[in-house]
Amino acid sequence: MVGDMDSIAAIESEVRTWLETHWDPNADLVEWRGLLADSGWGCPSWPREWHGRGLPLAADSAARKVFSEVGAVGVAAGVSMYLVAPTLLEWGSDEQKQRFLRPILTGEHKWCQLFSEPGAGSDLAGLNTRAVRDGDEWLVHGQKVWNSGAHKADYGILLARTNPELSKHQGISYFAIPMQQDGVEVRPLRQMNQHASFNEVFLDGARVGHENLIADVGQGWRVALTTLAHERSAVGTPRPRFAASGGRLVERAKTEADEYFSTYRWYPQRAGRPKLVRSEAQRRGLGDDPLVRQHVAKIEELQRTSNWSNQRARAARVAGRPPGPEGSVAKLNMSVTARASHHAHTSVAGAYSMLNGAEGPGNGVIAEVFVSTPAQSIAGGTDEIQRNILGERVLGLPKEPSTE
Ligand SMILES: Cc1cc2nc3c(=O)[nH]c(=O)nc-3n(C[C@H](O)[C@H](O)[C@H](O)COP(=O)(O)OP(=O)(O)OC[C@H]3O[C@@H](n4cnc5c(N)ncnc54)[C@H](O)[C@@H]3O)c2cc1C
Repeated sequence: MVGDMDSIAAIESEVRTWLETHWDPNADLVEWRGLLADSGWGCPSWPREWHGRGLPLAADSAARKVFSEVGAVGVAAGVSMYLVAPTLLEWGSDEQKQRFLRPILTGEHKWCQLFSEPGAGSDLAGLNTRAVRDGDEWLVHGQKVWNSGAHKADYGILLARTNPELSKHQGISYFAIPMQQDGVEVRPLRQMNQHASFNEVFLDGARVGHENLIADVGQGWRVALTTLAHERSAVGTPRPRFAASGGRLVERAKTEADEYFSTYRWYPQRAGRPKLVRSEAQRRGLGDDPLVRQHVAKIEELQRTSNWSNQRARAARVAGRPPGPEGSVAKLNMSVTARASHHAHTSVAGAYSMLNGAEGPGNGVIAEVFVSTPAQSIAGGTDEIQRNILGERVLGLPKEPSTE
């Protein structure tokens, strides 16, 4: 069984042998990733017929480890890979998987998530964007908001109401909408930390072909739950690490990653930069301050317990269980850690922590932490919503009164 050390070692050895024959740091990036898609070594846990090798999840990290040792570039990272691909694998038709999965792996298509609306965030099923059938197409009217990366996306996963007569969950359908068209207007939003990573998206007669409807009409809510489960359980894909000096392919992959992850460069600050608390305290000679020491100990404790919970969640996934409530626990842990770090940084840096830019502590990083951590408790489902999920689904507490 994959997961035991012998099998992992066997997979690592097979990947190493494959890379010895095929890795060429000067090849073309898209062609190289096409080769990964054909060989199945880009994401070995995917089914054989869809660019994988049908291996359990543990094979993905085993392959990634060897890629990193060799300095080889893997498949594209980002929302497309961690949210869109798993949803398509579960719900897409064969024709859709054929069309969409490969360009996701090669990085030729970037995707964004068009779920939230001005009046529908936590209560996502209350969304008002409408899609009306027009021959072989659907015409979409409405407004989305907080859509990360929409300004760079080729496609969006879109939730729209296709039947207003039905109850709110049943009247929703799920589409893969092309973003580069006249009916789609993307307006960046400036955040209080000065970054602009998400957008308002106005859909005014935007067109989406019927062949881009994912699952059946009216099944959109069930499909969305798959996407949301992956959003809770994944922290998002971190920027991949690249060999310090590589060939043409590595340089191209670095440029691609720089461009993609520039949208998310404040995300480490959003997480509170917990590791900086201790080093900043030492740098300021506060290592013996009893209050500062309590902050440092609390953060250490939170990080260790989060890590164990994450390991448990990973083990559950490796054992073949779908993303479960441990995703909500992990998400909450991240918010709690971000908030604790925020308070600790205040206590360590004092009034200086308000200085941003080059004159502020850590080159302004600490000030950016203050105006970025609130997002940690909101993105991907707020803390209150995660607590509702845990209360109702894990602890079996009575459900919230329904207004429907
Ligand atoms: C960094 C970031 C990136 C994002 N990226 C995307 C993206 O790419 N695509 C996308 O579609 N959306 C995205 N979002 C939006 C995100 O999903 C929503 O902000 C989130 O679901 C909350 O919705 P809302 O902002 O409408 O707040 P609301 O739902 O209006 O909530 C307001 C407050 O009320 C509380 N509340 C609401 N309902 C309940 C309840 N039943 N019980 C207890 N408390 C409740 C909430 O916890 C919150 O404190 C992003 C948000 C952030 C911050």
